[in-house]
Amino acid sequence: MAKDDLIVVAGAGGFIGGALVRYFSDKGFTRIRAIDKKPLPVWYQRTPGVECLCLDLSDEQNCRRAVEGATEVYNLAADMGGMGFIERFRVECLRSVLINTHMIESAYRAGAKRYFYSSSACAYNTTLQADPNVRALKESDAYPAMSERGYGWEKLISEMFCQEYWAERGMKTFIARFHNVYGPWGTWDGGREKAPAAICRKVLEARNSGVKAIEIWGDGTQTRSFMYIDDCVHGIDQIAHCEKLIATPINLGSSELIAINDLVTMAEAIGGVQLERTHDLNAPRGVAGRNSDNTFIQQILGWEPSLPLRTGMERTFAWIDQQIQDRKAGKHTVRDL
Ligand code: NAD
Repeated sequence: MAKDDLIVVAGAGGFIGGALVRYFSDKGFTRIRAIDKKPLPVWYQRTPGVECLCLDLSDEQNCRRAVEGATEVYNLAADMGGMGFIERFRVECLRSVLINTHMIESAYRAGAKRYFYSSSACAYNTTLQADPNVRALKESDAYPAMSERGYGWEKLISEMFCQEYWAERGMKTFIARFHNVYGPWGTWDGGREKAPAAICRKVLEARNSGVKAIEIWGDGTQTRSFMYIDDCVHGIDQIAHCEKLIATPINLGSSELIAINDLVTMAEAIGGVQLERTHDLNAPRGVAGRNSDNTFIQQILGWEPSLPLRTGMERTFAWIDQQIQDRKAGKHTVRDL
């Protein structure tokens, strides 16, 4: 790819899209078009020198405009959030199918050379995730399908679009199934945040207020793995430029499994506090256990996300601490609309 080929990133006002734009810009790409439906002032990150457009990509005409002249298209746009959001707003999650449907057709018509789609571990069969001591999920575990209601099924059908655009129309498509991503410049409050950011925030609030208590969603035995944002964007780049992975879903996630209770202990240790715990057993908790089997990505790329969770949590904790202080001081912070 030439450094002045046009890269289009959809969902660039959000967490991963914003980080991906910065990543390509840092690599020296000079023509990047970033798109999100959010008004520009509330984008999480803005990278200097990047064309930024505010467009609703569930509209086909806007998608045509978005991909004009594109060499590569990265679709990170979706209406999504942590368990608190995706269990409650299944219609919104399902409607993201419009974004990918119009984006992929527009990219095809525009003659884009590569199309990347951000799928999710929520596409996997939920019946395989009923035990906290979960067997890590491998790529073939998506079928027979029994995805997460709403969000997971949208991911699965959009994956299928990507596969058929390659099979029938010859456009190179790439599909990564992200397992939870966390890190600086991610959502940390407002209802869409995920466990690592939510836990850092709760520990910081307890420390700052002196009320040494924390409420944990579920009994805390549920297990997950968490991938640091830098590993995620590096992985996207590698996957989208690997010919062996055309139209082939692949896990992009950490294989360092942790129970939510232990993640709280980690955040407490980072914050230097110990909190009284209560468990909200009626809160959304998702599947009992989920981990990424990285055999395939190791085999194909000789690489896997590897930043230790403790290191990533320390960075995330420090960043959220600063965000809280900045917000108190009236400065611009990452905030949901
Ligand atoms: P995010 O919510 O921070 O970013 C998504 C962005 O898409 C938002 O800025 C939102 O405004 C934008 N968007 C939504 N609808 C749009 C529309 N109609 N037109 C234009 N923009 C629209 O989420 P994220 O964490 O950055 O996730 C990016 C992608 O990765 C999504 O597809 C998500 O499903 C997937 N994913 C994320 C995780 C994770 O842990 N963060 C895990 C699995 C999959």
